[in-house]
Amino acid sequence: MTKILIVEDEAGLVTLLKYNLEKQGYETVVVMDGKEVLTTALMEKPDLILLDWMLPSVSGLDLCRDMRKTYELRNTPIIMLTARGDEADKVKGLSFGADDYVTKPFSVPELMARIAALLRRVQPAPAQDNLHFGDIEMDFAKRRVTRGERAVHLGPTEFRLLQFLMEKPGDVLSRESLLKSVWGGSIHVELRTVDVHIRRLRRALNEGGEPDIIRTVRSAGYALDLNACEEDEEE
Ligand code: CA
Repeated sequence: MTKILIVEDEAGLVTLLKYNLEKQGYETVVVMDGKEVLTTALMEKPDLILLDWMLPSVSGLDLCRDMRKTYELRNTPIIMLTARGDEADKVKGLSFGADDYVTKPFSVPELMARIAALLRRVQPAPAQDNLHFGDIEMDFAKRRVTRGERAVHLGPTEFRLLQFLMEKPGDVLSRESLLKSVWGGSIHVELRTVDVHIRRLRRALNEGGEPDIIRTVRSAGYALDLNACEEDEEE
């Protein structure tokens, strides 16, 4: 569920925002005291923050800047809510790290549209249910891979490798990028490990004697290719 942190000191506005956001299916968290914003944001990890510029104890602008300096919050989308309306303020808000800016009194549908647009920008589109390449199909709901009529049995690593390749059919993907996407950037894995798993993936995909569809691009990486050269296989 998408969680929105509302930072606003006017009770009436909080009620209005909370009601409309929840009607749209968002989960809401409210902070009315500026001093509690950072700790609440760190604890609740909201997907988006609606931030009032004029708060009694702190300025929303300063909060915005502080959140951008905080590692965990540096990428959280922020929409500034403000009674000020001139262009200079808008620029100031955006330069302090806000992603968007809405002037009070705002229209609720407009704010909702801006929230949805901002979330779309930062959240990648949900993964498709299926991916196809040639006679290969990946079904994510069933976590099943088939080639023609044949079920292909893959371990979790080969499954993720194939998914990543199928999301970018034809692109040459470097071992480094495969490593990062499949294993995550935080753990140490040798590049050779990628080759080992590609070999396993290939074997599973070609088990029924089907043509190879993974092209090895010398010193560059791997790509899905319906005309993958067989002699490249033993790189
Ligand atoms: Ca206020």
